[in-house]
Amino acid sequence: MNDTVTASPLVLAGAGHAHLVMLRRWLDTGYRPPTGTILVNPGSHAWYSGMMPGLLAGRYNVEECAIALAPLCRALGIELRDDSVVALDAAERRVSLAHSGELIHQCLSINTGSKPPSPVLNDGSMELVPAKPFSTFHQSWLRWQQGAAPEHLGILGGGAAAVELALALRKSLPRSELHVLCANELLSGQAPGLIQAARRLLLARGIKLHEGGFVDQIKNGHVFVGGRPIQQLDALVLASGAAALDWYQHSGLACDDAGFVRVGDTLQAVSAPEVFVAGDSAAHQGSRKSGVYSVRHGAILAINIRAKLTRQPMVNYKPQRTALALLSTADGGALLHYAGWTLSGRLMGKWKNHLDQRFMKRHRVSDH
Ligand SMILES: Cc1cc2nc3c(=O)[nH]c(=O)nc-3n(C[C@H](O)[C@H](O)[C@H](O)COP(=O)(O)OP(=O)(O)OC[C@H]3O[C@@H](n4cnc5c(N)ncnc54)[C@H](O)[C@@H]3O)c2cc1C
Repeated sequence: MNDTVTASPLVLAGAGHAHLVMLRRWLDTGYRPPTGTILVNPGSHAWYSGMMPGLLAGRYNVEECAIALAPLCRALGIELRDDSVVALDAAERRVSLAHSGELIHQCLSINTGSKPPSPVLNDGSMELVPAKPFSTFHQSWLRWQQGAAPEHLGILGGGAAAVELALALRKSLPRSELHVLCANELLSGQAPGLIQAARRLLLARGIKLHEGGFVDQIKNGHVFVGGRPIQQLDALVLASGAAALDWYQHSGLACDDAGFVRVGDTLQAVSAPEVFVAGDSAAHQGSRKSGVYSVRHGAILAINIRAKLTRQPMVNYKPQRTALALLSTADGGALLHYAGWTLSGRLMGKWKNHLDQRFMKRHRVSDH
């Protein structure tokens, strides 16, 4: 056990989309956080979710989808700690790390995201591969690609991420039989045109779709719905939405029923004004768990954390009411839905690629 205790004026937990945007804004506006600021993140890169399916489909390489954190931290005078938060005691302002002791903070910002939930009953008879964190998912996928691909592979989830992953895995693992298993209808809550287009695509690519069954158990190599085996699988990718990390609820911070930290419009935790929470980790009225919202949170964090540290007034975050749905289809194209319109094809794919590349270019910092 490492019992080193470090005091820090500002601890940034996780290099999620929001922190990435915040750090870049600070760099652009000439703001430098206080000496002793620490960013804790497992691994040296921030992964961009929008390009992950493209990576699996062979359209991008890792360097294009992930941003190196060291140059950004160096430019801002921030210490980058390759570690993970395992516990937080909000009352004591104490962050416990997996390997390098504890951090006592004056101000803390949490952007550690979420994890996909998995079936509670599980006898361990099937390989489970969470889609996040991306770095570990990528390792499993590399192993599959190098010859250990599962014969029968399931994707648990029915949202945009599950559809994109299924299409990308179809392309990169041509010999695996693929099943998408979702509790509701596919892309539940989205426009009917988009749902139909996604269903047609999965069917056309030979991906089997199981809708309307909540997978609650894994036993003897099968997934079960309501006590009934519905499919034999060798591995299951979890793209099943967002569950809270366990330590949020045990931190003493006020959380919602799902275990995410409740925040107000300034993105401060409602029970601790020195703690900011952004992205999937935050329970904010009007925000959804998606990269798009996390990126917007980042712009607010950039202003409000600086304001907190310099005793300036803060701004309020107003979530957008609609977000563009843009799903890559692993063939250079994309499916788009916005304001009642569903469009598909290569032009949409080119546009998505343009938006994603622009984001990466904007946030990447080189050493010279
Ligand atoms: C395959 C896939 C595709 C997706 N595509 C899209 C898309 O196109 N558009 C969209 O809007 N959303 C998309 N999403 C959803 C999106 O990924 C998430 O909503 C988004 O990443 C949340 O961002 P975040 O800022 O909360 O944190 P994340 O981006 O999840 O990052 C969290 C960071 O914290 C780090 N971390 C985790 N735990 C700890 C810990 N204990 N201590 C320290 N650091 C930690 C992680 O390593 C990571 O760097 C997709 C999701 C998946 C699975």
